[in-house]
Amino acid sequence: MTRVGIGYDSHRFVTGRPLVLGGVTIPHPKGLAGHSDADAVAHALTDAILGAAGAGNIGELFPDTDPHWQDADSMELLRTAHELVQGRGLTLAQADCSVITEQPRLGPYVAAMSAALATRLGVDPSAISVKAKTNEGMGFIGKGEGLAVIAVAVLEAR
Ligand code: MG
Repeated sequence: MTRVGIGYDSHRFVTGRPLVLGGVTIPHPKGLAGHSDADAVAHALTDAILGAAGAGNIGELFPDTDPHWQDADSMELLRTAHELVQGRGLTLAQADCSVITEQPRLGPYVAAMSAALATRLGVDPSAISVKAKTNEGMGFIGKGEGLAVIAVAVLEAR
């Protein structure tokens, strides 16, 4: 049995916070606003994994109204979501993530993000693809107001 899920996330850029994507802290004058550490790669992939299992979504599992998740390590939320689907007899076989942002240019960091995500999920780095692209200057991403991530996850029976 193979199951596929999609996840999407976006966050607004703000000053005064570190930029954390895929568990990697990236040098940049701005970080992302959010209740947790606002790691949009971890969030999108978490939703993709949950979606593939029909296990709800990140907001249901880790509500931002719950102070327990204030400044949470989103990579830990990701690991927890994967554990949940593993409890349902599924495991992550493959994932693909596209990070869409005008700045910073993320090409130099995608391998580190892939490695960090794979380590936290207990899978081989070759199973986790992370890609970076711009939005060609269009819309909220093009104006540098924020960034967005799209992720797809493939789960297989354990
Ligand atoms: Mg988010």
